[in-house]
Amino acid sequence: MTALIEAIGLAAGYGSLAVVRDLDLHVEPGEVVALLGPNGAGKTTTLLTLCGELPILGGEVRVGGQVTKAPLHRRARAGLGLVTEERSVFMSLNVDENLRVSGSDPALALELFPELETFRKTRVGLLSGGQQQMLALARALGRRPSLLLADELSLGLAPLVVTRLLRAVRDAADGGVGVLLVEQHIAKALEFADRAYVMSRGRIALSGTAQDLRGRLDDITQSYLSGAPLAQAGV
Ligand code: ATP
Repeated sequence: MTALIEAIGLAAGYGSLAVVRDLDLHVEPGEVVALLGPNGAGKTTTLLTLCGELPILGGEVRVGGQVTKAPLHRRARAGLGLVTEERSVFMSLNVDENLRVSGSDPALALELFPELETFRKTRVGLLSGGQQQMLALARALGRRPSLLLADELSLGLAPLVVTRLLRAVRDAADGGVGVLLVEQHIAKALEFADRAYVMSRGRIALSGTAQDLRGRLDDITQSYLSGAPLAQAGV
């Protein structure tokens, strides 16, 4: 099967400074792939390079088998959905307006997150962090992407909300979407993912099926999240 997105020997970073090196990864349709690692490992840099927001410093990115350097807006039109760390919503607009400007199908978005129905006319700045993040995900999934890249969906949210968001991501993948999920909540991410890559200092240190990695959680935490207390590592 042709991967939805693939990085081959990718180097990425800021200016001419590569903070990510020799990175190989791929995401197939219908799978949730978690990208894990401690703060500063290079997860966000990788994601932003894969989506066309940061330039490629070495190696290549292929989308649907074709080498690409297209910017984000072109990839978005071609089926890429992106949810970034800064909740991807307009705080001064209401829920309906947010869905409209993103080009989402409101019926689909509200079907995915019926919790938002009551708040359709509410200014998003007044919603809770969890509701805002549901909207960010609803906006992305409501555009029926083939590939979703999501950065720290769970940042600062209560465990129940995190589960709700990851369940929606899992359902999207079960419907055929390929998902690359950057997560600090390692155990939680491995509960919903099919495969995972663990990054350390700008490189992939470990990869495997979620099932295998779940069985090695202690080892992974000690070896690759060095210095990070368990709570901070999200375990
Ligand atoms: P976090 O979970 O903290 O977001 P991360 O794994 O996503 O961590 P990145 O944000 O990709 O890590 O950062 C990787 C490295 O790149 C870090 O050393 C960071 O200091 C550096 N970095 C991040 N953003 C910039 C920037 N705009 N300019 C220069 N260096 C940056």
